[in-house]
Amino acid sequence: MAFIVKQKIKGKDYYYLRRSFRKDGKVISKHIAYLGKTREEAEKRAKEIIKNMEKFKEEKKMGKINMIKKDISIEDMASFCKRKGFVYSSGEIYGGLAGFWDFGNLGVELKSNIKKEWWKFHVYNREDVIGIDGAIITNPKVWEASGHVSSFVDIAVVCKKCGNKTKIDKFELGKVNCEKCGGEFETKGEFNPMFTTQVGPIKQDSLKSYLRPETAQLIFTNFKAVYDNARMKLPFGIAQIGKAFRNEIAPRDFLFRTREFEQMEIEYFIKPEQKCLYKLSDSEKNKILVYSSEMQTKNKKAQKMKIRDAYKNKIIKTDWHAYWLEQEFLWFVNLGANPENFRIRQHMDDERAHYASDCWDLEYRFPFGWKELEGIANRGDFDLRQHEKHSKKDLKIFDLLTKEKFLPHVVCEPSLGLGRALLVFMFDSYFYDKGRQNIVLKLNPKLSPIKAAIFPIVKKKNFQKLSREIYNELKKEYNVIYDESGSIGRRYARNDEIGTPFCITIDGDSVKNKDVTIRDRNTAKQFRIKIKDLKNVIQKIINNEKLSDFGKIIDTRTKV
Ligand code: ATP
Repeated sequence: MAFIVKQKIKGKDYYYLRRSFRKDGKVISKHIAYLGKTREEAEKRAKEIIKNMEKFKEEKKMGKINMIKKDISIEDMASFCKRKGFVYSSGEIYGGLAGFWDFGNLGVELKSNIKKEWWKFHVYNREDVIGIDGAIITNPKVWEASGHVSSFVDIAVVCKKCGNKTKIDKFELGKVNCEKCGGEFETKGEFNPMFTTQVGPIKQDSLKSYLRPETAQLIFTNFKAVYDNARMKLPFGIAQIGKAFRNEIAPRDFLFRTREFEQMEIEYFIKPEQKCLYKLSDSEKNKILVYSSEMQTKNKKAQKMKIRDAYKNKIIKTDWHAYWLEQEFLWFVNLGANPENFRIRQHMDDERAHYASDCWDLEYRFPFGWKELEGIANRGDFDLRQHEKHSKKDLKIFDLLTKEKFLPHVVCEPSLGLGRALLVFMFDSYFYDKGRQNIVLKLNPKLSPIKAAIFPIVKKKNFQKLSREIYNELKKEYNVIYDESGSIGRRYARNDEIGTPFCITIDGDSVKNKDVTIRDRNTAKQFRIKIKDLKNVIQKIINNEKLSDFGKIIDTRTKV
């Protein structure tokens, strides 16, 4: 039972919420929260706290936290991202600009964490991949050599029935109908989606160039220098993360199709015919839907299988291609994406780009259907050959064994859009907890924009002081926040919704015992942990260890 008590300290009134309960046959009575200095304020706060305590008891009675996966539309996701400070339409106070987005305080952190994890997995954790960072505007000859100036075209079409304006690829001409209503398309012409710009401020002396439409080409132009400087040996890859720009005919579906976006790419070079050095997974867990061009032609369904078996059964032609498809899938799954939402789809012969001998897309089941997340093409020596021809520079490398020079082949080019990856993690972590009655964004802690929220349980000076000390210490290592506004329940809910994995609460016992309550976002379970261990524990939990391994589980919701 909880009740309000008044205490007079140095002539002033202070109100507290007290709770009495039975333990080992004795009645124990304890202060559980400070309520303020006036009866009115105290009654208001007590009501809120008691309501939360009852809600928690209800949740406990249910035996589990009632978490359900919420499937939402891309429009709902865009509005959630705006409400919570992840993504805004760019220049919104002027009405925005189609295909351009600004990232808010949480979006910038999420984006940066995704990039960090991508770099860690693809560069730091491997011996055979190194990184570069190319310029956004470069010598336009690069784009002539790559074929972008002459043959990078989209076809603008309008649906004769519903007026839907969109783009199609050349190979789709006369073959596809409107995805909204099934109507026939009318062709409006071919467009090169490269943004042009003028380099040099005086028009007559300036050079027409382009904002890069992909990051890949700067990897090819720098290939020889990087190979020499980094003293790499084949097989090896060069990675790059950076902005790319395409003047899309119909930017749509929030971050899925934009005019300015970021790509995370690798060009993986081998000596022609060099065998893959890595093993494919034999785990049942790593099965994925495989949709080969043959299955598509014969109108068959995609089949779930290990990538290893897809390679053994010659569905995927090369060992390297199978390996990189698996790596890309595993990167997502290891970071908490739902494997059921992924498939690999092979390009049809007429769909494949002229430079590719084979191409598979890693696709994701977006709310608007299966769509390309990442293209993984075998580009052979097309690009290096083109740049050799146009630059008249020798890009070959010397083979110590055969004593001959040769052009390496790009056996795989995993190319992923950051915005599309961000959507995957948002959709797959978006849950609703019926007990808590709020969204719980179950992001992998490595991706969470805020790693922990630190609260004094009530606004008492000594609680605030200790909370600030903990906050200042943790801030040195992690992006954490200090929050003292609103009820404790409201603060938990706010943090659940933005994916903060832990809330740290400072109460009367914290001041005495130098420990805190740490609450797990996914289970709402609470643990008592020593303040001196906090940094270490947070690091371990971010690295996928369980909170329950570090502290004693407690029922502290009643302590509010
Ligand atoms: P799409 O067919 O969807 O236009 P694409 O095949 O032209 O894509 P690629 O040139 O293979 O795309 O680019 C590699 C990756 O870059 C894509 O898989 C995607 O993740 C991302 N990407 C490409 N264009 C865009 C865009 N306009 N907006 C956001 N991401 C993009």
